[in-house]
Amino acid sequence: MAKKQFKTESKKLLDMMVNSIYTHKEIFLRELISNASDAIDKLYFRSLTDDSIKTKREDYEIRISVDKDARVLTLSDNGCGMTKEELENNLGTIAKSGSFDFKNDPSNKDKEQIDIIGQFGVGFYSAFMVSDKITVESRAYGSDEAYRWESTGADGYTIDACEKESAGTVIKLHIKEDTDDEKYSEYLEDYRIQALVKKYSDYIRYPIRMLTEHEHLKEGSKDEYETVTEDETLNSMVPIWKKKSSDVTDEEYNNFYQEKFYDWEAPLKVIRQKTEGVSNFESLLFIPSHAPFNYYSRDYEKGLQLYSSGVMIMEHCKDLLPDYFSFVRGIVDSSDLSLNISREMLQHDRQLKSIAKAVEKKIASELGKMLENEREKYEQFYKEFGTQLKWGIYNDYGMHKDVLQDLIMFKSSYEGKYVTLKEYVSRMKEDSKKIYFASGESVEKISLLPQVESVIAHGYEVLYLTEDVDEFALQMLRTYSEKEFSNVCKDDLDISTDEEKESLKQENEKAKDMFEFIKDSIGENLNSVRFTNTLQNHAACLSSEGAVSANMEKVLSKNPGNDSDRIKAELVLEINLNHPIAAKLKELFESDKDKLKNYSKVLYAQARLVSGLSIENPSEVSDLVCGLMLQ
Ligand code: ADP
Repeated sequence: MAKKQFKTESKKLLDMMVNSIYTHKEIFLRELISNASDAIDKLYFRSLTDDSIKTKREDYEIRISVDKDARVLTLSDNGCGMTKEELENNLGTIAKSGSFDFKNDPSNKDKEQIDIIGQFGVGFYSAFMVSDKITVESRAYGSDEAYRWESTGADGYTIDACEKESAGTVIKLHIKEDTDDEKYSEYLEDYRIQALVKKYSDYIRYPIRMLTEHEHLKEGSKDEYETVTEDETLNSMVPIWKKKSSDVTDEEYNNFYQEKFYDWEAPLKVIRQKTEGVSNFESLLFIPSHAPFNYYSRDYEKGLQLYSSGVMIMEHCKDLLPDYFSFVRGIVDSSDLSLNISREMLQHDRQLKSIAKAVEKKIASELGKMLENEREKYEQFYKEFGTQLKWGIYNDYGMHKDVLQDLIMFKSSYEGKYVTLKEYVSRMKEDSKKIYFASGESVEKISLLPQVESVIAHGYEVLYLTEDVDEFALQMLRTYSEKEFSNVCKDDLDISTDEEKESLKQENEKAKDMFEFIKDSIGENLNSVRFTNTLQNHAACLSSEGAVSANMEKVLSKNPGNDSDRIKAELVLEINLNHPIAAKLKELFESDKDKLKNYSKVLYAQARLVSGLSIENPSEVSDLVCGLMLQ
């Protein structure tokens, strides 16, 4: 029979398919299996209302076989099959199910375009990525004629009558020869086929069978083996997320998670969700017990596996998870998504968005429940992934703070445990307006800060911020439950009475010249000097003014790209007005300026040290201290 030409669109797509440096050639198998499963579905549904169809549910199957020598991979199904016209119409034109609009030149190897194909598949034609010839023999159910469609690619196809005993379709792929870049032969290996079926088509509802060879001990022998051929079903058919919750044991969930997401530990939490209405989907989500080793690096790939009615269409669908929940693993299965590229692509996008929203809501609410009902578990989770939640608050200009602010915790001076902001506020004294916090390297170091000691002594609770992101996240939140956040080493603490404030103001005013002298003696980057009346036992401490705290400066300066001049904290040396040293300084200002100069330097160095900052001129300070000791 004369060769017929493909319709133009098909030709272009074939060209692109074969010539592109496309990385996911393996999806061809998924496409063919899905087609076979659809064909069986069609016949099965017809049989529900048509008594003349005798095939029983349990007879349906998809078969795969391999002939390595002839380089042929065969897939067959006993589904509805195709008539001559259907062969012509379905396989002669690409993507019959939805028109396919190629906006770009097919020779354009634009990565994005190729990826789209990888994600949504182009059905039957993808087989040309690995085959140089394809033969399809098909017999429509109820017909006694069978036809063979054959093509070697873009140059066209032929259709001839052939013999076929029963209804269904047999597709023979003649696998391409290996090249330097591509080992097509792997598609002729049992293990590879098995792995691909597991990966993409594990939940196809009909058995996918293959004769496989296994080595077995010979009966009655201890060391003699024989090769046994077994008919093996490669797919597990019912997805765990389609089973009733009550039918799935914890162990099954754990095994599924560990196998699928390569974790050696069981997940901390399993979340199931089923939504019908605006978007129809089911999800099975897992919160891992620990962060993967690369979690906080660029290598980590977030995303959920995306299925369309049991068939995997994307391994890491990033759009389904916001960054702050990037630790969640799992799957989403929706009947609203189709395998095909089609005009509906844009709609998929919308569908995906609405699924993503629902998934996000579900994760947030499950975490909230865990926090409320399983505190210990939540703290375990928080130790692993809390940083990510705090980044989530900071990122995108605080857009997600409503979702996240009740999920974050900090260690606090109250019993040294993790507290939520809600808990902090619930314990606040009636008249207090601020949520106090201090930041530093560790809880121990922060708790020793002079300002922290004094705020605690005044009866307030202090949150201990030990991570880089913490202060930035709180700055983004600005308030919680209408209470402002206040850095005890920076902001006006508002813990003294009006009288105390007034008298401090006067003392500061009186000592203006001395402060100027002290400031000049210290030089460096000190912004100003003043008295404080809120310190307990310490002689002096460092605080800061302006938007950047001393700790934020430390964090920001770790970032090589930052302009270190611009992000300097404006440091203030605060001298305890109630400490004998204050009187001593005043006295020296009158009697011995040289000595005051040295004392100022020592005092400043001490203040830096207790604030967790390093001294810039340690040997000078050391000499000064020795000098004092020898006096
Ligand atoms: P799609 O599956 O997206 O419609 P394909 O290119 O994969 O596109 O297949 C085109 C059409 O060919 C299918 O819609 C179906 O009607 C038909 N077809 C493909 N494979 C089979 C099969 N194994 N049995 C019956 N019909 C099939």
